[in-house]
Amino acid sequence: MKIRDIFNKKKFVFSFEIFPPKVTSSVETIYKTLESLSDLRPDFISVTYGAGGGSNQNKTKEISSLVKNKYGIESVAHLTCISSTKDEIHHILNELEEEGIENILALRGDIPLEEEVKGDFSHASDLASYINITGKFDIAGTCYPEGHNDSLSIEEDVKNLKYKIDAGVSHLITQLFYDNNDFYHFLDLAKKYNINVPIEAGIMPLTNKKQIQRIATLSGSKIPEKYNKIMDKFEHDTEALTDAGIAYATEQIIDLIAMGADGVHLYTMNNPYVARKTHDSIISIIHSVNRE
Ligand code: FAD
Repeated sequence: MKIRDIFNKKKFVFSFEIFPPKVTSSVETIYKTLESLSDLRPDFISVTYGAGGGSNQNKTKEISSLVKNKYGIESVAHLTCISSTKDEIHHILNELEEEGIENILALRGDIPLEEEVKGDFSHASDLASYINITGKFDIAGTCYPEGHNDSLSIEEDVKNLKYKIDAGVSHLITQLFYDNNDFYHFLDLAKKYNINVPIEAGIMPLTNKKQIQRIATLSGSKIPEKYNKIMDKFEHDTEALTDAGIAYATEQIIDLIAMGADGVHLYTMNNPYVARKTHDSIISIIHSVNRE
């Protein structure tokens, strides 16, 4: 099924993101995680595409196929383009199609710092156009409630989303954020610039203090003072910290549902405990909205 059809059917879509095991680990290491996550019947599961190249990238295809063909849950394969040629992307699209995968999250990827960029694509919108020509996939794209690091302003970043939409992107998934007001401000801008596709909010419960620094560096997302205080208070008690992170995310999600968001994409970090506890706290609310 194409993800756009899920958005057409449901008022609120709830999905998960997982990542493939490291290059050195076999794909079997994710089976247990998949068993637990698929039990929760999310609307779809997306599988990240590592920048590491080679076999790790093949695992995205393999795991997306498992999600769909073994567990019967719609999958979205992430695909980056910044270092790829058209021939390479053509080959990957053929492989995804052979596995029955119908949905792709079209990404530029981070620009490598040390190497010269030799690919045929400059932006995710170029990849989306290329995929769109095949007519075989539903295409999702990313967006950034606090603005992408490469953009001079959030307004410029939101304006650029129009390129993705014109290239055939049917829904957007946001970078993770911890202050819902950033998301609501972003939605206002999206409306101003005629970005009219469904936008899923990316939510990631933080479960350890090290993640905070990593998040701030990698995604540029702000961590509110309130959250920092929770982390400081429970940093030496893993169980308490995890549950506090889940509670914070749950509160965020309930507010998003109440404010009419199109959906939530949960960054599970391959942690079934976090996914299950978050799911259990909100599922009756999601069902209620989808019955309306
Ligand atoms: P783009 O959409 O191309 O945007 C990059 C910058 O270019 C922005 O500043 C934008 O405003 C500008 N821009 C966009 N289009 C145009 C245009 N046509 N003309 C001029 N300027 C333009 N990375 C991975 O390596 N693997 C993953 O699996 C992965 N999954 C992700 C999932 C989500 C939900 C998110 C939010 C990010 C993910 N990333 C992943 C990270 C992502 O690759 C980086 O954030 C990367 O730096 C930008 O990719 P993009 O597709 O958002 O880029």
